[in-house]
Amino acid sequence: MIDLPESIKNSVISFSKLPGVGEKTALRQVMNMVKWSIQDLDQFSHSINELKSIKRCAECGLYSEKEICEICKNEYRKIGSILCVVENINDLIAIEKSNEFKGLYHVLGGVLNPLMGVGPEQLKIDKLIERVNKYDINTVVLALNPSVEGDATCSYIKQLLKDVHVDRIGFGVPIGGSLEFLDPLTISTALENRKRL
Ligand SMILES: [Zn+2]
Repeated sequence: MIDLPESIKNSVISFSKLPGVGEKTALRQVMNMVKWSIQDLDQFSHSINELKSIKRCAECGLYSEKEICEICKNEYRKIGSILCVVENINDLIAIEKSNEFKGLYHVLGGVLNPLMGVGPEQLKIDKLIERVNKYDINTVVLALNPSVEGDATCSYIKQLLKDVHVDRIGFGVPIGGSLEFLDPLTISTALENRKRL
């Protein structure tokens, strides 16, 4: 990098850590930010700094500033006794954006993949069973992405949950696709067209 002030160089290095941002783009962003007001710069660095306090919700696994997230704390979310299982937080956010689902969520942290060393112990499956019992859930909606591993994970969970209805969202979602990249309407349709396993 050309001989710029250390603070600019360091910021460029930080921005370059973002996915899809190379040194050139990072430099352009930083050069633009140098022109910001002190107040805007303070606010920017403050909000990034606050990310340090983010943890995972002890119930569902969503990011949260507190032990339990806002969704899990919301009593209205428990009314339908319905819980939606997703692979990761981005999928949860995609479903939440569709505004179609009003129940509780559970983030598995992936799907079963024996070849990659992901077995039931690596996923939050025990916690899922515990929550289904604790909250008297009567319907579990599996919103796992369509793949061989996703299908196997659905079958595995289904056999563990004998006393509740287990649905899988309809697809809509292309094979090998991911919920996080779908538009809210497609997700709504997928949720409406669920199939009981
Ligand atoms: Zn939660």
